[in-house]
Amino acid sequence: MKLTILGYYGGYPFNGGGTSGYLIQSQGFNLMLDAGSGTLLALQKVLDPLQLDALLLSHYHQDHIADVGVLQYEWQLQTGPRKQDVLPIYGHMEDPLNFAALTWPAATIGKKYDPNSALELGPFVITFLRTIHPVPTFAIRIVEKKTGSVLVYTADSAAMPALNDFAAKANVLMVDTNFFANRTGQLWHMTAPQAGQLAHQAQVKTLILTHLPQITSFEELKQQASTKAGAAIKVLVAADEKNIEI
Ligand SMILES: [Zn+2]
Ligand SMILES: [Zn+2]
Repeated sequence: MKLTILGYYGGYPFNGGGTSGYLIQSQGFNLMLDAGSGTLLALQKVLDPLQLDALLLSHYHQDHIADVGVLQYEWQLQTGPRKQDVLPIYGHMEDPLNFAALTWPAATIGKKYDPNSALELGPFVITFLRTIHPVPTFAIRIVEKKTGSVLVYTADSAAMPALNDFAAKANVLMVDTNFFANRTGQLWHMTAPQAGQLAHQAQVKTLILTHLPQITSFEELKQQASTKAGAAIKVLVAADEKNIEI
């Protein structure tokens, strides 16, 4: 499968970069994962949005859904050829108002996922894990059926031991790395050392730091994660990557 980073900042867009959003493609199936601010513009550079097969949302914070509304308008108003009549948008049902907003007439339809069950979507089998975050949020594990390749996305979460098993042996692990090591107090996201530690415990092949703080040089963040991840794990920063083959 191919991963394209569409946005990588936490909270708000910055310096030309959007907030969380990713395109995952396999065997002609185009899955968008989260749709943060600026991600529709980024998507349009690599794929006609009417060619999406599905959008999957980890939670309903704005830095993950800000572009859902304009994506719905594009599906409503754009007249080009489309892959299907309406775009399915998968979200959890624990927030009825936000879930209801996923349906837009003649454009998109909200589909619920059950976080306790596997979701089969095209070439993928997707499972979920509830994270530690102020609103219901689910980490997402995507297995490409044909190859067995695994992409794990922590979504937004404080550090939590259950992620070690959930992310086990992933080919690529994308971690909410919003903070440097010196961040104190109540954390709803991980620090760079915590991201590295998770990658180490889960024995993943590649760690991608994402949901980044609003800085322009990520060397120190990467260094802090790499020290804990260990030499066997390749550490990348989402801001520096465009396409990753998994
Ligand atoms: Zn976020
Ligand atoms: Zn969040």
